[in-house]
Amino acid sequence: MPSSDPKQEPFEDWLRPYRKEYSRTRARVEGVGLVLRGSIGLRRVPCGKPTCRCRRSGKGHGPYYQITWAEGGRTKSRFLSPTLVPLYREWLANAHTLDRIVERMLSISREAADAVRSKEAKRVQARKAPKALRRPR
Ligand SMILES: [Zn+2]
Repeated sequence: MPSSDPKQEPFEDWLRPYRKEYSRTRARVEGVGLVLRGSIGLRRVPCGKPTCRCRRSGKGHGPYYQITWAEGGRTKSRFLSPTLVPLYREWLANAHTLDRIVERMLSISREAADAVRSKEAKRVQARKAPKALRRPR
């Protein structure tokens, strides 16, 4: 039997639509493959041999693919075989997809937090109202 006492109204009723959308959004994480942070660029490198043409031209060798990322407050990088570039790009894209899903989970949670806060404020207000009506005029 549903209670008419607003004190008995569970938060779960208010949260149901948010939990539903949250679950749907969270389920999308399942489809995300390996994730990688960083960016892929091309870089020319001098070899250091004093007689090499790369020293005279000042251009270095390459360009070679390189992935660069931040780790523990430092920038790290590794040279990358061209064969691996498509795979790495896919993993980088997966990280962006994961970011968008997590952002959505955070915004749904924020909406839920706002909704219960405003519902709770109205509920408290409703309980105070009768007292105000009883106030002598
Ligand atoms: Zn060289």
